[in-house]
Amino acid sequence: MLNVIELSRVIQGEGKFMGKPSLLIRMTNCNLHCIWCDSKQASWNAKKGKFTLNQIEDFIAKNPDIKYLFITGGNPTDTRNIKDLKAIISLVKSYGKFVYIEDNGTNYTEGLYLDFVSLSPKLSGSIPVGTRFEKNHKGYLKRQNTSLKQWNSNYDCQFKFVITEKADFSEMEFIVRDVGIKKDQVYLMPEGTTMDELNRNRKMVYGYALKQAYNYTERLHIVVYGNQEGI
Ligand code: SF4
Repeated sequence: MLNVIELSRVIQGEGKFMGKPSLLIRMTNCNLHCIWCDSKQASWNAKKGKFTLNQIEDFIAKNPDIKYLFITGGNPTDTRNIKDLKAIISLVKSYGKFVYIEDNGTNYTEGLYLDFVSLSPKLSGSIPVGTRFEKNHKGYLKRQNTSLKQWNSNYDCQFKFVITEKADFSEMEFIVRDVGIKKDQVYLMPEGTTMDELNRNRKMVYGYALKQAYNYTERLHIVVYGNQEGI
């Protein structure tokens, strides 16, 4: 079995390709443990992989009408996933799909045959304070800009920032400056795994994005379905 726990036909809910009908492949395992993670089945409580490469090929072959395919997680470039990730990308490209990963960006990986990379740099509000993962998580955050610079130099990237509170904007701005990210690569997104949480943060993020000329992105899948697995 590959480290893949979900195959779905979806509407992309965030970022540059929001609204595009897409095929989703979810890999398990993540090197981070964000306190507000909305994919805990692939991080905090990482499930074991349950799909073979043949099953993934069947899934792709049965959906010839969809051009976009993204590999999400978990974290696709978690070191435990690299071998499987390369095999999946190679298969997907042989079907002529536009393929990209959604990744936390802390583990730069060269030589992936990707059309695009969607990165979600993490701010200090993601730290799982008081848990056994706190130290490891902080260590990755300290090193993340080095890795983000490498992604940005070698791939076509977008950078999605989850904003929880006003203080997050200055942290986000530091990363944008330090990494050398262009404004049109930035997508600001309100934090929230429920509609109530999203509603609380939406106006603040929308207003800031408009003022500073960043892209704003919704989290369509939560707006439509709430925090439901498999969406
Ligand atoms: S990087 Fe993504 S998958 Fe990993 S813990 Fe954070 S939110 Fe969850």
